[in-house]
Amino acid sequence: MLKTITSALNDFSHLFFPHTCIGCSNDVLEYDTVLCIKCYAQLPATGFMNTEGNPVEKIFYGRIPVQQAGSAFYFTKDSVIQRLMVELKYRGNKTAGYCLGKLLGMQLAETERFNSVDAIVPLPLNPKKERKRGYNQAAIIAEGIKTVWDRPVLDKAVCRKLFTETQTQKGRIERWQNMQDVFEVVDAIALEGKHILLVDDVVTTGASLEACAVPVLKVTGVTVSIATTAYTIL
Ligand SMILES: [Zn+2]
Repeated sequence: MLKTITSALNDFSHLFFPHTCIGCSNDVLEYDTVLCIKCYAQLPATGFMNTEGNPVEKIFYGRIPVQQAGSAFYFTKDSVIQRLMVELKYRGNKTAGYCLGKLLGMQLAETERFNSVDAIVPLPLNPKKERKRGYNQAAIIAEGIKTVWDRPVLDKAVCRKLFTETQTQKGRIERWQNMQDVFEVVDAIALEGKHILLVDDVVTTGASLEACAVPVLKVTGVTVSIATTAYTIL
């Protein structure tokens, strides 16, 4: 299994050539991956992907109709998962994101629960943030998933509106209400009649995933499932 993961992750070797492991920073990597075999083995897998009624599904109970939901790993402080996230979100390390996506994709492929998914929609990022970062981390994760779990990535079908100055100055409750129309379907035809898998890096309260699912679910014949690389225990 570990050998498979290591060799699978080598596909991205042309993108990045680290010498040491992101997880332990001790091991010099035999292959051009971001983690050593020991750190892969220690990743805190949740087992949620093939479990009905798992904690991620429970987040959305009574809020939105979700077919299946799950996260691949627990997000804990000072963990390897947190380090990979930091690499992806703040250090411009796309390879870390492809790897996280690939690991999530392997879990999606190993269960039958997500078989009927037709396409992946990465949660859109605030356009201002995306310009600053240069990419949407959820889209990178989605591309990683696609390499091991063959589904098209529709990253232009839904967009996130840019907050205006006045909106960011509003109170908390008002901002929460505004969250409800932060996302907008811009290509309904691409989504029509499909089972969509919404993908994000982390799920905590599920507020943004819910806000994104609402307009998506309004498109004719659409059903929604949710997958994230990490799950934060509140
Ligand atoms: Zn390591």
